[in-house]
Amino acid sequence: MAYAISLWTPPALPITGSTDLFPVRRIFCVGRNYVEHQKEMGGDGREAPFFFLKAAHALVPLGGEVRYPPKTSNYHYETEMVVALAKGGRRIDAKSANAHVFGYAVGLDMTRRDLQQWGKDHGRPWGFGKDFDQAAPCSALAPAARIGHPAKGALWLTVNGKERQRADLADMIWSVPEQIAYLSEYYTLEPGDIIFSGTPAGVGPVKPGDELLAGIEGVGELKVRIVAPL
Ligand code: MN
Repeated sequence: MAYAISLWTPPALPITGSTDLFPVRRIFCVGRNYVEHQKEMGGDGREAPFFFLKAAHALVPLGGEVRYPPKTSNYHYETEMVVALAKGGRRIDAKSANAHVFGYAVGLDMTRRDLQQWGKDHGRPWGFGKDFDQAAPCSALAPAARIGHPAKGALWLTVNGKERQRADLADMIWSVPEQIAYLSEYYTLEPGDIIFSGTPAGVGPVKPGDELLAGIEGVGELKVRIVAPL
């Protein structure tokens, strides 16, 4: 069977210590999953988390140069641990959810904050604020078979050498297994799905020329340089 147009290569992440690639199917993202970030976005510290999606083609494997996107003047970073699923399922129990995980990475949930805010203010979808070209830089995956399932450890970001975000994975409101369980109530999760597990406080704007270095203890690092828009 032939396709009417050329078939594209599936977005994929390198794997630390392997020459195989991890093909990415969907990108789920959790909002407001750290108390201090939830407060800086206008919450009261108790709101239940919620999810949104980005197209898999928004991935920027291994980071590197990322173009400042169009139609924004408030382009933000959000440093997050990324969870990659090797096994899917429905109504997954949080107690067994880790068995579905292939590995973990460092990601940046890049955000056109002004477009997101416009959607919120007007009761419209805010997908344009979150899902756009190069909106999901992501490091190589560290397999759970090598590093286990990190539930604590430092997550941090520097911009031009200055620290902008620092928190501990233990500060998540909903743990990774709880996120997988919750999502699997609403979706049939599939192998290749990845989850951006939320950002701590300290989100802020970047501009062309800025150098971002994000890291998670025991998982890896991700370097991004913002370059001029097209
Ligand atoms: Mn986020």
